[in-house]
Amino acid sequence: MRLIFFGPPGVGKGTQAKRLSERRGIPHISTGDMLRESIAAGTPLGLKAKSFMNVGNLVPDDVIIGMIEDRFAQKDVREGFVLDGFPRTLPQAEALDRLLTRLRIPIQGVLFFTAPDEVVVDRISGRRTCSRCQATYHLRFQPPKREGTCDRDGAGLLQRPDDAEAKVRERLKVYQAMTAPLIPYYEKKGQLRRVAAQGGVEEISAEVERILTAIQ
Ligand code: AMP
Repeated sequence: MRLIFFGPPGVGKGTQAKRLSERRGIPHISTGDMLRESIAAGTPLGLKAKSFMNVGNLVPDDVIIGMIEDRFAQKDVREGFVLDGFPRTLPQAEALDRLLTRLRIPIQGVLFFTAPDEVVVDRISGRRTCSRCQATYHLRFQPPKREGTCDRDGAGLLQRPDDAEAKVRERLKVYQAMTAPLIPYYEKKGQLRRVAAQGGVEEISAEVERILTAIQ
């Protein structure tokens, strides 16, 4: 399956994208994870991205599009993929269309995750991320077995700098201005499917599967 997951920050699309990628054995392509890896590795791209990310702004389109083009040069995307956090602007969506047309692997569905702002702020400000493998937890809804420690690899859990409440509100504004225009863009193409993302993780996964069965 070739899918895009999108929606406001903290809506739980990353959790669902990871789970789907494991269930289907397809790559999970998260531009946010790729950028954080570049920051951790101290690459020039990471240094450039950090200043935008830390204040809740988007990284410039040319940087992101270049990163995605490099990722799609790898063969594993032929088996399918789930894009998470990309595209986030109309120029990114148009660049993706051109790239996938050239590669002859068009998108099959766009899942749009929705939840009210307050739910999103609550989810994201309780989120903790593994400093090594980027697995995500929530202090209340999905706590790790040992406080402050990743279940998978035992590394420490951190709050992402951009997950603090004030930054989340800024990211929601950026989302409304830059990313929400993708809703009519994909609606016009007949590809948009809405996922009400307010329940628990299992419940939302079941909803995702129901939608995917209808697409296939
Ligand atoms: P995420 O992990 O998807 O919430 O992304 C974290 C941050 O990385 C965002 O707030 C942006 O600063 C940056 N970022 C991730 N994906 C993109 C994208 N497609 N376009 C621009 N900036 C992005």
